[in-house]
Amino acid sequence: MTKTVPLFDAAGLAQQRFRQSLRDSTQSETPPSPALDQRQRPLHDLRISVTDRCNFRCTYCMPKDAFGRDHAFLAHDEMLRFEEIARLTQLFVRLGVRKIRLTGGEPLLRKNIERLIEMLAAIDGIDLTLTTNASILAKKAQSLRDAGLQRITVSLDTIDDTVFRRMNDVNFPLARVLEGIDAAARAGLTPVKINAVIKRGINENAILPLARHFKGSGHIVRFIEFMDVGATNGWRMDDVVSAAEIVDIINAEIPLEPIDPNYHGEVAGRWRFKDGSGEIGVIASVTEAFCRDCTRMRLSTNGRLFTCLFADHGVDIRAPLRDGADDDALLRAIAALWQSRDDNYSERRTANTPRQKKIEMSYIGG
Ligand code: SAM
Ligand code: SF4
Ligand code: SF4
Repeated sequence: MTKTVPLFDAAGLAQQRFRQSLRDSTQSETPPSPALDQRQRPLHDLRISVTDRCNFRCTYCMPKDAFGRDHAFLAHDEMLRFEEIARLTQLFVRLGVRKIRLTGGEPLLRKNIERLIEMLAAIDGIDLTLTTNASILAKKAQSLRDAGLQRITVSLDTIDDTVFRRMNDVNFPLARVLEGIDAAARAGLTPVKINAVIKRGINENAILPLARHFKGSGHIVRFIEFMDVGATNGWRMDDVVSAAEIVDIINAEIPLEPIDPNYHGEVAGRWRFKDGSGEIGVIASVTEAFCRDCTRMRLSTNGRLFTCLFADHGVDIRAPLRDGADDDALLRAIAALWQSRDDNYSERRTANTPRQKKIEMSYIGG
């Protein structure tokens, strides 16, 4: 039987405050830019989920028992339209956002995604990227590039075909993903980043082969600690292979040295192969929380704003958008939401943190 996946608590306090700030907005001043939250973090990144659907059933993200054949995905009308996403993005840019990442579900499954990319690429001063499982990247890489996409991140947790088919749980072959990565590089979506989530007992043996395979290719593998996102992936602290352990495993065979971050607040720790043949990243989201520098807002497919990956509810911005709210009212409401943000879940999480109702990763992207 399919389990119910928690959606949003639309009646939450944040939603009430958000509605109130929309109503108050005609009287107040233009919102400050950059907006700072309760922990003095600026709003800098926006992750936009363009679909809640996916053709994979990665066991750590959309396990089949929770996302089975009778799972109710969003109806077309519930999803934000491209014009709505582009309008909101422009407002976010006015509030200081400079990095936009399209995600999902599987973003390349959204029909005419190239059209959305064209619309977003026309907005001045933003870095536009996308995260994909690369299942259809081989045929889309060039059209994505032509539409204005700058770079791409491919999720790939192993280069063993048998393990890969087991992890995506739809028997999808590894070779097609590798073709997608090659096509992205040929199209100039570089450097291609490869995200690998490592789960103990499942793919920790993939760490060295991944490092070896992409060493010297110009692509950057980023190893990610398995996280307790959502409420369906059965997370346990014991399943986490720490970033420190990952570095030790690689360093024992291919000597590494740490390098400086590209910019303040970069989430991946950077390590260079001492022989000069490239670099890797490690994202210690569990063992070394980076909430202090977390500057990300997330926009779900159906137009909810989430100030944290581990939130249990989002605030509905689709309703005011469709009810005719003007730009100033929306700007002030978004700024007020950010200013009230106090999230730092990963700094507080322990092995014993009770499993709470949390939004699923496939609704808001990684
Ligand atoms: N379908 C696309 C993909 O897989 O690249 C985009 C959406 S996916 C939710 C975004 C990222 O979240 C992927 O890199 C995936 O590996 C990561 N992810 C999903 N569940 C995770 C978990 N439990 N812990 C850590 N990363 C996770
Ligand atoms: Fe789909 Fe990406 Fe989640 Fe895998 S990680 S199930 S590809 S959304
Ligand atoms: Fe940001 Fe929330 Fe993750 Fe902390 S737990 S880094 S606040 S998304």
